[in-house]
Amino acid sequence: MSRPVTLTLNAGSSSLKFSLYDISGEPAQLAAGLVENIGKAPRLKADLGEGEARVARELDAAQAADHHGALSTVLDLLRQTFPTARASVVGHRVVHGGPRFSSPMVVTDGVMAELRKLAPFAPIHQPHNLAGIAAAQAAFPEALQVACFDTAFHRHHPKANDVFALPREYYDKGIRRYGFHGLSYEYVSGELKRIAPLIHAGRVVVAHLGNGASMCAILDGRSVASTMGFTALDGLPMGTRCGQVDPGVIFYMVQQEGRTIDEVRDIFYNKSGLLGLSGISNDMRVLESAGVPEANEAIDYFVFRIRRELGGLAAALGGLDALVFCGGIGENSRKIRRRICDGLDWIGLELDHDRNDSNARVISTDFSRARIMVVPTNEELVIARAAQRLLAEGQAATA
Ligand code: ADP
Repeated sequence: MSRPVTLTLNAGSSSLKFSLYDISGEPAQLAAGLVENIGKAPRLKADLGEGEARVARELDAAQAADHHGALSTVLDLLRQTFPTARASVVGHRVVHGGPRFSSPMVVTDGVMAELRKLAPFAPIHQPHNLAGIAAAQAAFPEALQVACFDTAFHRHHPKANDVFALPREYYDKGIRRYGFHGLSYEYVSGELKRIAPLIHAGRVVVAHLGNGASMCAILDGRSVASTMGFTALDGLPMGTRCGQVDPGVIFYMVQQEGRTIDEVRDIFYNKSGLLGLSGISNDMRVLESAGVPEANEAIDYFVFRIRRELGGLAAALGGLDALVFCGGIGENSRKIRRRICDGLDWIGLELDHDRNDSNARVISTDFSRARIMVVPTNEELVIARAAQRLLAEGQAATA
C-alpha cells in the first residue's frame, strides 16, 4: 500500500531544502532537511521525524554535483526511511512570480515558459528554483508540481507602492516594486488570524529578520508596503546584501573605479550587509559575541535601519497595532529585539524585558498601546498547504 505525501522543495543557489508532509487536513511534517554546498563539498542534513536519528553527513561531490544530483540523494534517503511514501504533489518555492502570478500555480509548460522569462528579474535565484522544478518533474512524472511565489503576497499592494519614479514604459516592462518573503508574511499573518484575530484585522508591521531580511506593512491581512523592491536587494541590510543604497554608487563604481557590472553585483549581493560592514561575518551570533567596534557598527546600522523603516511602514498604515518579529534573528536574538524596541513608546511600543528574555510569544507589557510579538515563521508549511489545496481542487475538478 502506498502512502500519499507532499514534498516541498526550496532550491537556492547552492542548497536544496526539502520537507515531507503527510497529506491530511492540515499537513503534518514527517521529515525535513537540506543538501548544502551543492557542486563543491556537499553535505546532507535531515531530521527524519520521531524515533529516527538525525542525519548529518558529507556527500561525495558526484552525489550532489547539481540540483538533479542533490534531489536524487534526498529521494534515496526518503525512500529508505519512508518506503511506502508516494509523492502526489511537489510544492516549490519560486522567488519571482512577476506581475501576473498573485497566487500559487500548477506548473504547466506554459507556466514554466513564463517563469523562465522572469529569470532576468531574479538572476541569482530564479534559475535554481526552476532547476528544482525540472529535477522534480523528472523524478515524479506523475505528481502535480505547484509553484509558490515569494512575490505573490504583495501583488495587491497599492499602485503608489508598486511603481518607481522612472519613465512610464519601465513599469510596463515589469520594473516594479514586487516585494519578497511573501510566503513568510503569509504564514505569520495566518498565525495572527488564528491566535490574535483583532490584531490581524488591524495595522501590523512584520519584521522578517534572517540572513535575508525585510519588513512588511500589513493591513487586515493584506500587504500594503514592504522594504524590498524590484529585487531582494533593497531595504534592510542583510547577511551579505547591502539593502538600500543610492543607485549613484553603482555609477561611481563602474565609471570611476572601472568595475564590471558583475563585480558590482557580487559586491552588492555577496560582500556587503553585516559581512561587509563588520569585515568579520554575516552571522549575527558571531557579531553579537565578537565585541569589536566593526561588529558593533554593523549591528548599529542593522538596528538603525529597522527602526527607520518601522516609522515609514507605520506611516503607510496610518498607525500601528503590532510589531511582529520572525526569522532566525527576529525569533532568537533577544538583544536585537531589545535594541530595536528601546525608546519606541512614542509609537506605542513598550517592551517587557522579562518576556523578551524568555522568548515569549507576546513580549510587550500589558500597558503597551501596540503589541510586540514573536511568531516563528514556517514557509514550508505555506507551500505544503497550497500544494495540497491545488491537488484537491484538481481532483475535485476531474471527479
Ligand atoms: P535564512 O534567511 O537563510 O533562512 P535564518 O532565518 O535561518 O536565515 O536566519 C539566520 C540568521 O539568524 C543568522 O544571522 C544567525 O546568526 C541568526 N540567528 C540564529 N539564532 C540566533 C541567536 N540565538 N541569536 C542571534 N542570532 C541568531
